[in-house]
Amino acid sequence: KEKLLMTPGPTMVPPAVLMAGGEPMIHHRTPEYSQLFRELNKNLKTIFQTQNPVLTFPAAGTGGLEAAVVNFFSPGDRVLCTSIGVFGDRVATIAKAFGLNVEKLTVPLGEAVDPRIIEEKLKEQNYKGVFVTHNETSTGAYNDIEAIGKITKNKDILLIVDAVSSLGGLDLKTDEWGVDVVITASQKALMAPPGLTFLSVSNKGWEAAQNSTSPKFYWDVIKARKAMEKPSPQNPYTPAVSLLRSVNKALELIIEEGLQEVFHRHSQLAKATRAAVEALGLKLFAAPQARSNVITSIKMPEGIDGEKVKKQMAEKYGVITAGGQEDLKGKILRIGHMGYVHEGDIIQTIAALEKALIDVGYPIEKAVGIKAALEVFN
Ligand code: PMP
Repeated sequence: KEKLLMTPGPTMVPPAVLMAGGEPMIHHRTPEYSQLFRELNKNLKTIFQTQNPVLTFPAAGTGGLEAAVVNFFSPGDRVLCTSIGVFGDRVATIAKAFGLNVEKLTVPLGEAVDPRIIEEKLKEQNYKGVFVTHNETSTGAYNDIEAIGKITKNKDILLIVDAVSSLGGLDLKTDEWGVDVVITASQKALMAPPGLTFLSVSNKGWEAAQNSTSPKFYWDVIKARKAMEKPSPQNPYTPAVSLLRSVNKALELIIEEGLQEVFHRHSQLAKATRAAVEALGLKLFAAPQARSNVITSIKMPEGIDGEKVKKQMAEKYGVITAGGQEDLKGKILRIGHMGYVHEGDIIQTIAALEKALIDVGYPIEKAVGIKAALEVFN
């Protein structure tokens, strides 16, 4: 039997999305392709909640992060890289690799950035940009982008948000909150196969792109925008045609369900998962105000190895979850509930968690977690 993929990406893909990717190949310099690309661009704007162009590149999300660094900044530019975990760290590493003058703002794992600290930092120094992770996949905490947007909106500074694991699962009002660049990828809440990254760019962002002197060729957003805005939309280089078709189908499904309904579904999935975890006597890893609706991270009790629980859930009970990364290896278990996930998937996951905990020698009362989750779905 097919295993249940409850990881924070790649996530499960609806059959209609997989089938869309299996259609016969078309050439990319044809009206048929332009029509597909036109539709995709329109649907992306809806999901990104923006009127600005959203660019598509064949790449992992990390490629999108690199595109943000090289297109909107130049070597020597002072930027504030906030980090609440592995992915915040990664952005800072990329920015350093391209010669930006990086100041890092790090918080204890499991917590979010306090927007007031960003406000203070901006008073002390002139920065060209602030990088913020929306959902920190490595800890299960998320940042308050609306509050941070209020601080940066009317200033001469770019707010760049890594929404790789959140867009399509957590609300992100790109234009209304004043986010200049939003980066995401196809394989998480967008419930499509991995392989595409997307970036929305505000007017402030386009101005910055004109002034950027960082080396770039493939990642040039100005070139991509020009091709995209031709009467028959195009890409500078061969696009990932099949993936575009899949993502377009996935976006149609999200729009059909309704963005607000999709966010509500994620919030219910998260509530049920958290309730189950706490009913089992386990502790949630993320700080109470920072707990994300797309992923739940669970602290493993003393003496229980998260890697063993993960392995047992996968091999014996057919539910794939993720362990902790880097310093958190073995210490936490992460359940992804983003994208194509529904109530039954959570119940199955909690059942597997309960059984695996018993197997590894952590006594719990059976079905207590399931009951708590069912109460939420009531
Ligand atoms: N940022 C965040 C928040 C992520 O969760 C991930 C993937 N886990 C990435 C960036 C990197 O994406 P990719 O693995 O597609 O390069």
